[in-house]
Amino acid sequence: MIPKSHPRYESLITRDKIVDGINKGITSTQGLIAQGRGEAFDYLIGEKTTPGALNAEKTAAALLILAKNPVISINGNVAALVPEEIIRLSEAVNAPLEVNLFNRTEERAEKIIQHLVSYGAKNMRIKTDALIPGIEHDRTKVDSSGIFSADVVLVPLEDGDRCKALVDMGKTVIAIDLNPLSRTAQTASVTIVDNVVRAIPNMTRFADELRSSGKDELQKIIEEFDNKKNLAQAIDDISKHLSSSLLLTLSANII
Ligand code: ATP
Repeated sequence: MIPKSHPRYESLITRDKIVDGINKGITSTQGLIAQGRGEAFDYLIGEKTTPGALNAEKTAAALLILAKNPVISINGNVAALVPEEIIRLSEAVNAPLEVNLFNRTEERAEKIIQHLVSYGAKNMRIKTDALIPGIEHDRTKVDSSGIFSADVVLVPLEDGDRCKALVDMGKTVIAIDLNPLSRTAQTASVTIVDNVVRAIPNMTRFADELRSSGKDELQKIIEEFDNKKNLAQAIDDISKHLSSSLLLTLSANII
């Protein structure tokens, strides 16, 4: 049991959730490595949601509300880290959940579906009767009434190839990725540079706030967003955070 007073409490709880996901057979061992890379970038960002990330989360909520066929893609890390939160978002924006795995086995996909159902998921797409053109690995398999026909897809923790393939299909792709330099981050239509454990509840809050807004107001939020500027801002936030950490360290040593 990790005491709440531990300075790295949130981070350690997140690790436990991933390990638990592996023990349950819903998260892949490669998912551990992805989590490690994410943690490193979270550290550089300051383990908090930046104003830029918050703006991307608001834009993403507006896009999901306005979409005709929004879909939320789920992998083993997302299922382990934010099962309740992602279901809540799915309900808030009326977007079905679809399991899509890089290291796919039917057994793991089924376990994730059952895991989400045990948390109350009702709106899911579970077929794999269509293929995304241009990808060779198992992530090409999707549901014809889900990701394949979606206009807006939320892909928390995506790989770069599939993100590009979805954009090439003409879809609006919202990615959540702590690394602003990853191929996914650079290719997505809207990149949320934040930890999925903070980003998903933030998006749900925005969706609840924006649901009663008019179409014009939502459209304005979307039009004002520029992903290139958003990514540049995220990189700048990292360097500013590093500079201020350096100053703190130097002043502590002087005193
Ligand atoms: P790409 O193919 O896009 O270049 P990659 O090969 O760098 O991606 P993967 O191993 O496919 O990365 O996926 C891990 C990505 O997910 C990393 O960019 C990492 O920063 C990010 N990530 C991992 N855990 C989280 C998390 N909890 N929240 C947000 N992002 C995360």
